[in-house]
Amino acid sequence: MAVIGAGPYGLSVAAHLRCAGVPFRVFGEVMGSWRHAMATGMFLKSTPAATDLSAPGPGGRLSDFRRVHGEPELTELTPIPCDVFVRYGQWFQKRYVGDVEPVRVVSVDRATNAGGIAVRLDDGREFTAAAVVVATGLSGLAHIPDELLRLAPEGPGPGALVSHTGHHSDLSRYAGQRVAVIGGGQSALESAALLHEAGAHVQVLVREQGLLWGTIPQLGRPWPQRFAKPASPLGTGWTLASVCRAPGGVRRLPAAARMLLYRRALGPSGGWWLRERVEGIVPVRTSCRVTHAEASGSAARLQLAGPDEPDIVTVDHVLAATGYRLDIDALAFLGPALRRGIICVPGSKAPQLSSMFQTSTPGLYVTGSLAAPMFGPMMRFVAGTEYAAARVARDAARWVVAP
Ligand SMILES: Cc1cc2nc3c(=O)[nH]c(=O)nc-3n(C[C@H](O)[C@H](O)[C@H](O)COP(=O)(O)OP(=O)(O)OC[C@H]3O[C@@H](n4cnc5c(N)ncnc54)[C@H](O)[C@@H]3O)c2cc1C
Repeated sequence: MAVIGAGPYGLSVAAHLRCAGVPFRVFGEVMGSWRHAMATGMFLKSTPAATDLSAPGPGGRLSDFRRVHGEPELTELTPIPCDVFVRYGQWFQKRYVGDVEPVRVVSVDRATNAGGIAVRLDDGREFTAAAVVVATGLSGLAHIPDELLRLAPEGPGPGALVSHTGHHSDLSRYAGQRVAVIGGGQSALESAALLHEAGAHVQVLVREQGLLWGTIPQLGRPWPQRFAKPASPLGTGWTLASVCRAPGGVRRLPAAARMLLYRRALGPSGGWWLRERVEGIVPVRTSCRVTHAEASGSAARLQLAGPDEPDIVTVDHVLAATGYRLDIDALAFLGPALRRGIICVPGSKAPQLSSMFQTSTPGLYVTGSLAAPMFGPMMRFVAGTEYAAARVARDAARWVVAP
């Protein structure tokens, strides 16, 4: 078995494979996205109770990690720093997974001979796996709208005129510079706060009419409130509670309903604890859209449309916090023969999956965000590892022929 990716999903699947005695190899840097695609100083938006990796037995929760290390327990009122989550993932790997090979998988395709899946690594090694689990998260799926991409003919990145939030692990490089952050979700607002605190002249440009903020969690809610708005790993309310409780039920909904859920559930908003670092501190322009962008010397000129007169903003850098697109074709390692066998959810480029997360290509499994159009919004978050990992490991194990 090959597991591609050593983030929350890859590690959780591997932990279950190990417990089931299935031989496996895991590839990638442990918690790599959380070390390189999140800016220093970021916090998780999810609560501690919704941020556990899935271990096959007790003792592997975030709270266990904190206790073992003599660190105080985190409550819903204590946002989790990213570096705590990274250390938790590393501890989980040592305890439940074992060796992880810190190399990238560059190709996965149908093996030409006796079946199986041919896997090639970036150090040139190749082998045939009985089955492959894709746990690469949002890697390669960052989305920058075309009108902004025009600013970076050589490709977006921290040194170009435009970059995506996922390109950064340190935003202090923009100290003293004018930066426009495009977007109104958590990544946009937290990046804006970090840029401001690092000494950048930042403004946020948002399409929506206003910003949405999470509400401060209420500990020990009385039962009528808990009944009216039940709690779930993704927030309160019956819809969220239902989709979190029954990802298998979501999978049985018609594709159009699932796609609607995917697009509508959990729209852009900022965490409650972030509000005081943004509101009244960082300039935010709402109801405005970038209609055109062009380079002007070493700066970027953005043409804005909104309810008022069109306007032009000139900045030194544009930070696109414009989200991710679920597109299986963006997984550069997926070979053409394997890709041809993958059926997608109608109206999307996300794979159709069995109840055990298998694609229509036998032996190929997909977890994490790419599974959200099948199993609902929980798969976009760490909270989904519990549902996914045991199922993937149990089903994938049948591909491994006993010696
Ligand atoms: C800014 C931001 C904040 C977020 N905050 C939260 C939060 O607070 N709570 C929450 O639950 N979720 C949050 N998420 C969603 C988060 O991405 C997922 O919950 C979680 O990381 C998913 O785990 P994963 O294992 O699917 O993906 P990842 O954590 O992204 O792990 C995938 C791993 O695969 C590796 N990889 C990719 N390609 C290859 C390859 N070819 N070969 C080998 N390895 C490869 C990557 O390097 C990476 O380490 C956030 C996302 C973003 C972008």
